[in-house]
Amino acid sequence: MSDSAVLHIRGRVLVGPEDVRDELWIVGGRITFQRPTGARDVRTLTGWALPGLVDAHCHVGLDAHGAVDESTSEKQALTDRDTGTLLLRDAGSPADTRWMDDRADLPRVIRAGRHIARTRRYIRNYAHEIEPEDLVAYVAQEARRGDGWVKLVGDWIDRSTGDLAACWPRGEVTAAIAEAHRLGARVTAHCFAEESLPDLVAAGIDCVEHATGLTEETIPLFAERGVAIVPTLVNIATFPKLAEGGERKYPRWAEHMRRLHARRYDTVRAAYDAGVPVYVGTDAGGSLPHGLVAAEVAELVAAGIPPAAALSATAWAAREWLGRPGLTEGAPADLVLYETDPREDVRVLAAPRRVVLRGQVVL
Ligand SMILES: [Zn+2]
Repeated sequence: MSDSAVLHIRGRVLVGPEDVRDELWIVGGRITFQRPTGARDVRTLTGWALPGLVDAHCHVGLDAHGAVDESTSEKQALTDRDTGTLLLRDAGSPADTRWMDDRADLPRVIRAGRHIARTRRYIRNYAHEIEPEDLVAYVAQEARRGDGWVKLVGDWIDRSTGDLAACWPRGEVTAAIAEAHRLGARVTAHCFAEESLPDLVAAGIDCVEHATGLTEETIPLFAERGVAIVPTLVNIATFPKLAEGGERKYPRWAEHMRRLHARRYDTVRAAYDAGVPVYVGTDAGGSLPHGLVAAEVAELVAAGIPPAAALSATAWAAREWLGRPGLTEGAPADLVLYETDPREDVRVLAAPRRVVLRGQVVL
C-alpha cells in the first residue's frame, strides 16, 4: 500500500461495547471518521471491527527453559499478531526484546522488565533472584528498564514447608511498590496462594496475576482499591498436571494447587461480581504457546463472566487500563475484522477475517 492509499473499513465498527458505527477510514496509518476527500487509491474491507486485542499477560523472548533467540521471539510475536492480538503486556522476560519496537510488522509490547523473585523461589533462568533487602533497588532498576510495569513473584513453593508461601515481608514490598510508583511504574505480582494477597494489597499493588487465592476476605479489598486481576485461566487449567508431577515430593503443595484449580471459576466470577477489574492474559511464552487470547476469553465466559464483559477485558477496557487508544479519531490504526458480532459469540475471535496493524493489512 502506498502512503497516499486509504483503507475504508465498512460494516459494523465497535468503537465501544455499545457504541457502533458504520465505517471508518485509515489515512497515513491513523483512524478517521471523516471521509477523506480526493482519495483515489481506496481499498475497502468489511466485517465487524474491534480494536486490536490485548494479551495482558504473556512473555515474549521466553520459553520453558529461559530466554530464547530473536527468531523464536519474532515467531511468538507473529503468532499473536495473526490472531489479532496487537498489544502485549509482557509480564516478565529475561530477553532484551527492545529491537521489536522498530518493527512495524510486530505487535506493540508493554514490558515489565525481568521478573523479580526470591532466591531459588521461581522457575530457573527466568528471574532476578534476590533477597528482601535488595528489593527496592531491583524494583527501581526494572521500573527504569520496562514500559511502566514491574513484575514480582509474590508467592511460590517454599521447599522447607512443602507448600506455597509469600515471598516478601510487608515492609520491604511496601517500600518497593512506593519506589515504583515514584518512578511512574505500576507493579504486578504472580500469586497463586491466599496468604500473599493481603500484604500486597496493603502495600499498594496495582494488579495480581493468576489470583487463584482470592477469597471472601480479599475480594472486597481488591474491589475497594481497584486492584486488577489477570486470571490466565488457560494456564490455571494445567494445575492438576503440575500437582501430579509434584505429588510425591510435595503432597501439601499438590493438594493446595488442586483446591485452587477446583474453585477457579467461582473465584474469578466472585471477583468480577464484586467489581474487581478482570483482564485477559494467557501466560503464553512460559510453557504455553502464543495466540491463545480467544481461548482465554472463552474461559472467562465459562467462568460466568458475561460475553460482552469478557470481550471488553481483551478489547476496550484492556486498552484503557494500559493507556492505549482504541478506535478513536487520530489513533494508530490497529484493528481486527470478524465475520460476525463478537459480542454475540466470542468464539469468532479464534478466526479473524482481517488484521490491520499500524494501518497495514497484515492478514
Ligand atoms: Zn507469566
